[in-house]
Amino acid sequence: MRFFGWAAVGLTFLLTNCRDRTNPEPPQYRVDARVEPYVQLFRQEARSRGKTLSIDNLTVEFGQAKNQNVCGECQLDAGQPPRILLRLDAPCWTQASEEARECLVFHELGHCLLRRPHKNTLFPNGANVSLMNSGDVSVYATCLYDIGGDVCDKRSRRAYYLDELFDETTPAPAWGR
Ligand SMILES: [Zn+2]
Repeated sequence: MRFFGWAAVGLTFLLTNCRDRTNPEPPQYRVDARVEPYVQLFRQEARSRGKTLSIDNLTVEFGQAKNQNVCGECQLDAGQPPRILLRLDAPCWTQASEEARECLVFHELGHCLLRRPHKNTLFPNGANVSLMNSGDVSVYATCLYDIGGDVCDKRSRRAYYLDELFDETTPAPAWGR
């Protein structure tokens, strides 16, 4: 018994020691199948802008975020893979348009993979400068109800917002004036 006891201690030490010396946490890729296409698209959009991203360490799942008022959350905890939590309810996901879902996922990937913080500056016309704003992330989606005032179908703004996502120095577009 004593021998096995010591052997266990020795083995634990060896494993711990080994893990510490190489990689504290092995990369872990676990992305919900419903979100996977958006992650692949993010990778493509990065590549088409000359950015190579290694997306091998990421968790994306549906669940209850710590902050109840948001549709998504990026959690960056020491020693853990970057983790994105998304809410599955109607306005956040199930009844959201393709573009709105993409805006949400890309915003969270902006935090979790590009390590970008929020940016809340506005253009002269009142539109957000960045997809990384902390208010309405549906910057290039179609609004649910057209109540007038602002442009409802903003899909043509996608190229600008993705350029800005991957390069903050992107010049302001004509429609922002
Ligand atoms: Zn955010």
